[in-house]
Amino acid sequence: MKIQNYINGKFVNPIQDNWIDNYNPSNGKIYSQTPNSSKDDVENAYQAAAKAFPKWSNSSLEERSKILSKIAELILEKIDFLAAAESKDNGKPISLAKQVDIPRAASNFQFYANAITQFSTESHESVGLNAINFTLRQPIGVVGCISPWNLPLYLFTWKIAPAIAAGNCVVAKPSEVTPMTAFLLGEICNEAGLPKGVLNIVHGLGTTTGQAIIEHTKIKAISFTGGTKTGAHIAKIAAPMFKKISLELGGKNPNIIFADCDYNKMLATTVRASFANQGQICLCGSRILVEEKIYEKFKTDFSKKVAELKVGNPLDEDSNLGALVSKEHLEKVKSYIDSAEKEDAKIIFGGKKVVVKGAENGYYLQPTIIEVTDNKCKLNQEEIFGPVVTLISFKTDKEALTLANDTKYGLAAMIWTNNLNRTMQFSKQLQTGIVWVNTWLLRDLRTPFGGIKNSGVGREGGFEALRFFTEPKNVCIVYE
Ligand code: NDP
Repeated sequence: MKIQNYINGKFVNPIQDNWIDNYNPSNGKIYSQTPNSSKDDVENAYQAAAKAFPKWSNSSLEERSKILSKIAELILEKIDFLAAAESKDNGKPISLAKQVDIPRAASNFQFYANAITQFSTESHESVGLNAINFTLRQPIGVVGCISPWNLPLYLFTWKIAPAIAAGNCVVAKPSEVTPMTAFLLGEICNEAGLPKGVLNIVHGLGTTTGQAIIEHTKIKAISFTGGTKTGAHIAKIAAPMFKKISLELGGKNPNIIFADCDYNKMLATTVRASFANQGQICLCGSRILVEEKIYEKFKTDFSKKVAELKVGNPLDEDSNLGALVSKEHLEKVKSYIDSAEKEDAKIIFGGKKVVVKGAENGYYLQPTIIEVTDNKCKLNQEEIFGPVVTLISFKTDKEALTLANDTKYGLAAMIWTNNLNRTMQFSKQLQTGIVWVNTWLLRDLRTPFGGIKNSGVGREGGFEALRFFTEPKNVCIVYE
């Protein structure tokens, strides 16, 4: 089948008729073609968006809210269909797509359908000067949204929903590796009555289609989630044009385990935080730091639990891990595992590719635990973004904090303890945008989401995203 671009409410082929093969990671077979859109396709998408903008930006909040709610409702109605499509396109277990990815995509729309009706601005009375100031928050115009392959519909809609709720029109590009559910979203938007041109989806390679979006002089803001290297490239292109940018980038998140924690809860959550979605979540706790007192016990218990995980066909309901997203990515992750010996590290579980019966050419890998001795090693400094975690022990709080902060990334951190003072000290001193205490990936969509250091610039979530997608304007009125 052929995936098409969604421009001005219609499904169209790329102008130059260039296509990219789309693989099913569970069996390594090509199962569809995706447009590799050119500058001209992006220009058409921009023109449609620019034409739709005057009317959409003046639509009532009730109207926008109603349409966004309808999109959420339709996503939930089609949950089985969308989850199967996501699982096939990405390789993730269908159970995960059904429980997390697709419901969250619906929640993204529902959340912003509500949030836009509650969004307000400030006023400042200049007492003694007979002046009153108020702030208008106006939509930017046409904005670009670019998202990665790990949580395809989840992250795509996390950008689009606040952008259109705030009155912007969008040119969006999903990852070329996982285009399917973004393609299906177009039909849902039409069914929900989203006016044509408000959302335009162009598919293609980052280096052609993505590049055309970021270089477009009239696309005034870019919301991007992806790798740190790509983020730096986008920042460089956007800076001379003074585009607004929001960059959600990579992570190398510490999962810090103290002896005084609720051990069983920590163990079960740590398994999930390590290997959910084959470890391909920017928030996974990929560096596990364990207090020395319980290190050996943890190592044994954790390895035992991980050994129980089933790697299998993503469409089997009982698979805990599915396939990695692509052959290239599988090889990249494997090369990190193969570097263990050179890094003075020891593989204590996993490390091998898995052959799944009936899907012998799929991209499967064992969940892998590597014990490291030096936090400076590549395995503890670079983002692997696969089913690989490292273990290292620490003796004191100070040592744990130093290890946790000793990376160029600063997205999320987890800490397991029942000590209140320690919780507060770590919450304040961890150099990350998110700290989870005695939990992982508990998301309240009202909260600011994003990282510091090389993990990004700006915040998504709640009103933060609505602030990003609007320009504040000060109006000052003097009266007699
Ligand atoms: P990439 O940076 O390779 O790609 C992300 C998106 O950018 C894709 O749509 C890609 O297109 C596009 N792109 C690539 N090059 C350009 C370019 N020159 N101009 C414009 N767009 C471009 O990341 P991955 O898709 O590999 O995703 C994994 C990364 O995403 C990891 O580093 C992960 O940590 C990060 N991530 C961060 C999150 C966060 O919230 N902080 C959440 C989830 C993931 P294409 O794929 O078609 O080449």
